[in-house]
Amino acid sequence: MKKKLVVITGASSGIGKATAQIFSDAGYPLLLLGRRVELIEEMNLPNAICAKVDVTDITTFKNAISKAESKFGPVDCLINNAGVMLLGNGADQAPNEWKKMFDVNVMGVLNGINIVLKGMINRKCGTVINIGSVAGRKTFPAHSAYCGTKFAVHAITENIREEVSNSNVRFIVIAPGTIKAELIEHTTDNEIKKDYKEWLDSIGGPISANYVAESMLFAYKQPQEVCIREIVICPTKQQP
Ligand code: NDP
Repeated sequence: MKKKLVVITGASSGIGKATAQIFSDAGYPLLLLGRRVELIEEMNLPNAICAKVDVTDITTFKNAISKAESKFGPVDCLINNAGVMLLGNGADQAPNEWKKMFDVNVMGVLNGINIVLKGMINRKCGTVINIGSVAGRKTFPAHSAYCGTKFAVHAITENIREEVSNSNVRFIVIAPGTIKAELIEHTTDNEIKKDYKEWLDSIGGPISANYVAESMLFAYKQPQEVCIREIVICPTKQQP
């Protein structure tokens, strides 16, 4: 059967990049989104449209999806992966860092859902995979606003899953632990960044993003009547 369109946000690095590669190897037509589109284009994946999209800008996000749908047909799977983690303490962190995380991690996810969900409900088929975190299930030091965004992703996913379950549309949340990616590099507090990296060393370092990508492919490839609601995937030595 002809494979259907998969959209991946934040495909330029880390988990999104690994997911693009693994879904491409599995033969899916792809729409790959990110601000650094040149990094996505460098992957040179077949049957893939790459577009420069900031997920907080719903108009360009929507236009890119319309363009891909006119070539490959309707979106069957949206992977809301784009995210930022700016660690900081409640007393010190600048509100613009909090805003950035809520804009990308929460509004970016909701924008994607807004664009694809009505079509999926009408077709009585489709899957939305949102990337949450173990930080969407429990709190961590210096993670307050980031945890807030990821708790929101988990709540939104579960709430909409219930709403659309009767339309045969699946909502899945993936909750990774520490994964090799650029994520921590954007934190501006150098002391917190240093502590985080020391903690990473103490647990033997992060695991490859390929494991997360494989888990998404596994969940997506289940028959439409099967919904794997949540996958929590961490390094074995990560305790919290
Ligand atoms: P990276 O920093 O390596 O990747 C983040 C991706 O998000 C990049 O491709 C970046 O692309 C994209 N992105 C950031 N802001 C925007 C934006 N405004 N619009 C579009 N794309 C954007 O980190 P990860 O791969 O780790 O992050 C992927 C997801 O995994 C995030 O949601 C993160 O919270 C989550 N996660 C990661 C964990 C980890 O340990 N790595 C653990 C748990 C969850 P570009 O800059 O080109 O726009």
